Amino acid sequence: MLYLSKSKYCQVRQCPKLLWLAVNKPDAETMDAAREERFETGNEVGDLAMGIFGDFVEVTRKNGNKLDLPAMIEATKEEMARGTPVICEASFSYNGLYCAVDILKKEEDGWAIYEVKSSTRGDKAVYITDVAYQKYVLEHCGVNVVGTYTVVLNREYVFDGTLDTSKLFLITDVSHLLGPETAKIEENLRIAEAVLLSDTEPVIDLSDSCNEPYKCGFFGYCTRALPKPSVFDLYNLSFKKKLELYNAGRYRFEDLIGEPAIGSEKQIRQIEYAVSDKGTYIDKEGIRSFLSTLHYPLYFLDYESMQQVLPKFVGSKPNEQILFQYSLHYIEKEGGPLMHKEFLAESGSDPRRALAERLCEDIPEDACILVFNNSFEGPKTKRLAELFPDLSERLLRIAGNIEDLLVPFRKGWYYNRAMGSSFSIKSVLPAIFPDDPELDYHALDGVHNGSEAMTIFPKMQFMSPEERERTRHNLLEYCKLDTLAMVKVWEELVRVSR
Ligand code: SF4
Repeated sequence: MLYLSKSKYCQVRQCPKLLWLAVNKPDAETMDAAREERFETGNEVGDLAMGIFGDFVEVTRKNGNKLDLPAMIEATKEEMARGTPVICEASFSYNGLYCAVDILKKEEDGWAIYEVKSSTRGDKAVYITDVAYQKYVLEHCGVNVVGTYTVVLNREYVFDGTLDTSKLFLITDVSHLLGPETAKIEENLRIAEAVLLSDTEPVIDLSDSCNEPYKCGFFGYCTRALPKPSVFDLYNLSFKKKLELYNAGRYRFEDLIGEPAIGSEKQIRQIEYAVSDKGTYIDKEGIRSFLSTLHYPLYFLDYESMQQVLPKFVGSKPNEQILFQYSLHYIEKEGGPLMHKEFLAESGSDPRRALAERLCEDIPEDACILVFNNSFEGPKTKRLAELFPDLSERLLRIAGNIEDLLVPFRKGWYYNRAMGSSFSIKSVLPAIFPDDPELDYHALDGVHNGSEAMTIFPKMQFMSPEERERTRHNLLEYCKLDTLAMVKVWEELVRVSR
């Protein structure tokens, strides 16, 4: 018999092949550390939301580590018969279709479904699919569903020391959005049954579904036979346009030469340099104009942050990025030695004040501060200024003195084929210094990217002293490499500008 949970239903709704791969080839999915972390924090949000209507009964039952679905379904029946006003994880099964409702609330003439999500937008397409499926299952179990809602985090909520769930969560009535989704359910169930009973991977080509409602984790698997690079590696082109070119058979870079949709200088250069290795493109004038905006003392700054889905520190908001670390390489005057300073907070307490104070001490007022991609460091420094009025003047001066090392790359003044379509420091660095072991992120222990840093930092408070010390060392080394990388990139720009 078909057995389908709501998450599997959402998969088949996105793409039948996605459901088949999730069941038969789960290891082919790519999921980064930050995404796994979001799943974990989703549970924390769900637990907190259970109390939004006051007293509740949760019917989660376990058999060892696994959910005991028959026991949950039985317990739900009992609570509903008893007239329990709020039942959490209320579970239902109809003809092999299973769902657990985050919050089932008794109304005068029936029951209302509340689906809890840890994001800040309640009407996302994937949530509508999810709620429509739940309503379908409940109605086929004989439940009179009189309301359907999503519960998400209120992005404007500011934590004042006590979590006020009546203000933290926003409830959205999605009933009027369910119609078109409900109409597709039976057809999707037929497809799901065929997919789940099949030993053969469905033959389904790439489509909009690969990117909607979210980027499919099997995209790498499904494009493994394409040449590298392919149209999907092209700089700054919408997925829709890439798909059109792919469907027209124009997925090799060689096929894209002269394509009218690819008109920007950087796209044309990316294709030209990929098709035939022309070395490095350098626009000396452009690079010189950028370098002329810099002055000594020169400070290279990089922050690390963690995302707090639920705000835990006074003044913070849901899903806010909280800074906990920085690295600073600096050169006081032309020809001077390269020096280094760093800060890493203690895990488990609010890191922001200590970090802001140290930053003000570590960076002189007249410094020129280089970051790589100022869409993060600048706004985050200004956010610190907002939080700490006594440091505000100093922090705003730091934010105002920031120059962005990404500019020469984003402008297309320095390019080689190894950069592909990305100008992040992780792409630029190995493209400029392919064989330098000192600049190899893979050679680091434990922490190799920002996602890993943001995931591991909050866990440090629960580690043994030895493990904490090792992790602390790994985080410091990682962040230090980020700013050393910036120094090397700046040196290269200076070198080629001469
Ligand atoms: S990448 Fe696209 S085709 Fe492949 S499973 Fe995902 S949605 Fe389906």
